[in-house]
Amino acid sequence: MEITLSPVSSSLSKTFFASLYELTNGERIRTCLQCGTCSGICPFGYIMKFPPGKMIGALRAEIFDQVIKADSVWMCVSCNACSAFCPSNIPITAALMTRAKEEMLLAGNIPTELQAALENTQRYGNPMGESPRKRADWTLGLQPEVNILGKTRQPVDVLWFVGDYASFHSRMQSATRALAKVLNALGIKFGILGPEENSDGDSQRLAGERGLFEMMAQKNGQIFKRYKFNEIITTDPHAFNALKNEYPALGISHPVKHYTQFLYERLEQIKPLLKNEIKARVAYHDPCYLGRVNGIFDEPRALLKAIPGIELVEMSHQRLNSLCCGGGGGGMWLDGFQWEKAHTRLSEWRVREAVVASAEILAVGCPYEPPRFEDAIKTIQNASQLKVREIAELLAEAMGL
Ligand code: SF4
Ligand code: SF4
Repeated sequence: MEITLSPVSSSLSKTFFASLYELTNGERIRTCLQCGTCSGICPFGYIMKFPPGKMIGALRAEIFDQVIKADSVWMCVSCNACSAFCPSNIPITAALMTRAKEEMLLAGNIPTELQAALENTQRYGNPMGESPRKRADWTLGLQPEVNILGKTRQPVDVLWFVGDYASFHSRMQSATRALAKVLNALGIKFGILGPEENSDGDSQRLAGERGLFEMMAQKNGQIFKRYKFNEIITTDPHAFNALKNEYPALGISHPVKHYTQFLYERLEQIKPLLKNEIKARVAYHDPCYLGRVNGIFDEPRALLKAIPGIELVEMSHQRLNSLCCGGGGGGMWLDGFQWEKAHTRLSEWRVREAVVASAEILAVGCPYEPPRFEDAIKTIQNASQLKVREIAELLAEAMGL
């Protein structure tokens, strides 16, 4: 690698370093041991010109402009594996990688597919560019009718923040409907925001668009104020992460749970309703922002184990060391870019692990995953028998709903 030192590179390194100090535990970057754990555990570390450890080396050498000129930062899917295993507890994902992506956006070094998703979010309130009016279309035909709060104005126990992919993606709508049926079967008084809901913004934030994230958060915060509810549940672990860990700093604070946590708390009520056997070996994929970032490993597994006939098996990467599906941190909108660089997808690696574990079902708890894993199944040898199911879909099937 050719390295050119210049006064510009030195000043960028200094301002970038200083900006990390403003972030929670950002100053810990000074304690980096250059052990290489982060670069080693990073699923795309092998292909990055500057994996995280080397980025810190570039900062120390005051040649950070080389990092910004290269585009390897866009191989980062914000999976948090580097941060979870760093012996110096450096917030690599939240501080270094996310700030670097912000710098990439400022420098105009952004893949076009990501740019389109960010523009869609700004214009339509969702990264897919769907009309906000269609956000509740998944509810059509469901009985009882789903309570759309803007129409009924009824107070509810639970505000269900459905999220972008669970609302709009054609594969995910059946899983969203399944969760609505499960909530109804449990007698939960819930409502949704429908067309008033905006993207949670968390993946946009992790892709470097902090301003857009704050815009989405403020819009959602204003809508929350209109309705009476006791708690929020989310379908999407990224929304859960945003509402739990990021929105409170913006003054938007409500009790929030991922739906698997919420259902786990009602497991004794659910168990007698699980009358249908699902005879299958099931591997559970820990979503990064449910498991590794927020420590929810056992609740989804407990729900699966409660279904008669299910034999739970573990894949080689599991729990804290789970392997990302490739969708986080803007990865959902960087598939083409990452394919060009790596000629492989993380979702394919994960499907291969499920096949090695002899799983018949790959169970998931994040709306990014079914479309990604189902695409991957088409390309992986011996994977054609593997089915991808949301936990809500399996529960609804076992309940005969
Ligand atoms: S794992 Fe932590 S200490 Fe080791 S090189 Fe990476 S940032 Fe530095
Ligand atoms: S967050 Fe994940 S993808 Fe990004 S640098 Fe860390 S390990 Fe690699």
